Amino acid sequence: MVRPDASLRSNTWRQAAACEGAPANVFYPENDTDTAAAKAICAQCRVRALCLETALRNQERYGVWGGLTPRERARLRRRNLRAA
Ligand code: SF4
Repeated sequence: MVRPDASLRSNTWRQAAACEGAPANVFYPENDTDTAAAKAICAQCRVRALCLETALRNQERYGVWGGLTPRERARLRRRNLRAA
C-alpha cells in the first residue's frame, strides 16, 4: 500500500479515492463475504490508510473501508486496544 502524503491529511482525501464513481453495492454488499471486488479496488487506492483510519475513528459499522470489512475492522480495533 502506498502511504498517502501529508497533503492528503485534510478533508480532500476522498477526492483521491480509487472507489470514486464505483457502485455503492460493491462496497456495501448484501452478503458480508462478497467483498472481493471492493478489496481489489482498495488494494490500488492511494488513500487507503486514511480511509481505514477514518472508519476506525468513526466506528463505521457497515461497508468495506480501507480494504477491511466491518468484522475485520472490529478485530483490528480489539487488537489495537490490547496493544495500547
Ligand atoms: S480504501 Fe477503498 S473504500 Fe477507502 S477510499 Fe480507497 S477505494 Fe474507497
